[in-house]
Amino acid sequence: MPGPTVRQERRATLLHVVSGDRSAREKRLARVELRDVTRRFGAATAVDNVSLKIEHGQLVSLLGPSGCGKTTTLRLLAGFLEPSSGQIVVGDRVVSTRERTEPPERRNMSMIFQSYALWPHMTAAENVAYGLKLRKLDAATVKKKVDAILATARLTELADRYPSELSGGQQQRVSLARALAVEPETLLMDEPLSNLDANLREEMRFEIRRLHDETRTTTVYVTHDQAEAMTTADLIAVMNAGKVEQLGTPEDVYERPLSSFVARFIGASNILTGKALDEHTFELAGVPIQTTGVALQKGGSANISIRQHEIGLRHGPAATGEGNMIPGEIRRQVFLGATRDYLVALADGSEVRITSSPELSMAPGAAVTLVLPRERCRALAR
Ligand code: ATP
Repeated sequence: MPGPTVRQERRATLLHVVSGDRSAREKRLARVELRDVTRRFGAATAVDNVSLKIEHGQLVSLLGPSGCGKTTTLRLLAGFLEPSSGQIVVGDRVVSTRERTEPPERRNMSMIFQSYALWPHMTAAENVAYGLKLRKLDAATVKKKVDAILATARLTELADRYPSELSGGQQQRVSLARALAVEPETLLMDEPLSNLDANLREEMRFEIRRLHDETRTTTVYVTHDQAEAMTTADLIAVMNAGKVEQLGTPEDVYERPLSSFVARFIGASNILTGKALDEHTFELAGVPIQTTGVALQKGGSANISIRQHEIGLRHGPAATGEGNMIPGEIRRQVFLGATRDYLVALADGSEVRITSSPELSMAPGAAVTLVLPRERCRALAR
């Protein structure tokens, strides 16, 4: 969809400027809540009945593949779009309903875009000061606040440079500093690191988390990058096809995925399908496998997830009586330097991906045993 123009983006970082009285605002808790929010574009549903609570001071990441509705959710929060149904509440104010949507400039939010959206004719310090000047703060106060936030963002040395004289990462730090200088109730970030190269992106993830730890601004952070979400967020909302599939801490969504989608999306898991023998036993290719996590429904079809590096691989068939071991046959192996990647076929024809140490080399056709530790065989609720 057509995004905001660069000019709109520059203005959007200043959403807070015209909003209400500061002292009253400081006492407010910027808890953000979506209640059954749906947004349709014609026949397509981009955001589908999403409910999500973001507590004051939390950084929540919306994580999911392209087209799952992350940016639409962020634009609904910012007030660029109105919901087709449902409500958005910030603190004790209902800011969006189908009938009435408070405009972006009344929301006391700052938004950061992929494009940095800096004013090219202003230095780093002037960019950071801009919102404060618009608010008609006196020059001494503006200078004090600008100096403080430039120091926090480690930009003091670069204060007098123009955007064209700064690297991508430095420009993004200026854009962060500008957004934070006005002390917004809520900070919205849309893929803020996607224009940076891989090394810088990694460094900036820590920087964003550090700034958040210092300012504790309630933040919603959109990304499709799992590592970025795990480094920066208190909570991750994994989105799929317009819905939040799971909301949890990085450990929760990694260790205890509830659906096949989350297990696959977060950390490349194998999803194995079999029959539930009882609440925690599952039959895979004719072998009973003990599982952990949610209780299975006896007699029904069930899915478990297990990560590629969590499966052990041994030469030859399993000794009889050993638990959670399945015979298989190597289909393919690839040497990747630090690891070896195997594709192994089971008796029922299903295939399992396994990452092993590079020393373990087995040729296609070799008979092997897969060892699936019980505590890694996570039963999936959906
Ligand atoms: P990406 O990571 O690629 O930016 P996303 O998760 O942010 O994806 P959205 O931009 O929210 O996804 O889009 C969700 C769905 O809504 C997509 O199918 C998209 O094509 C559709 N959509 C978004 N905006 C519009 C629009 N203005 N008109 C029609 N369809 C739209």
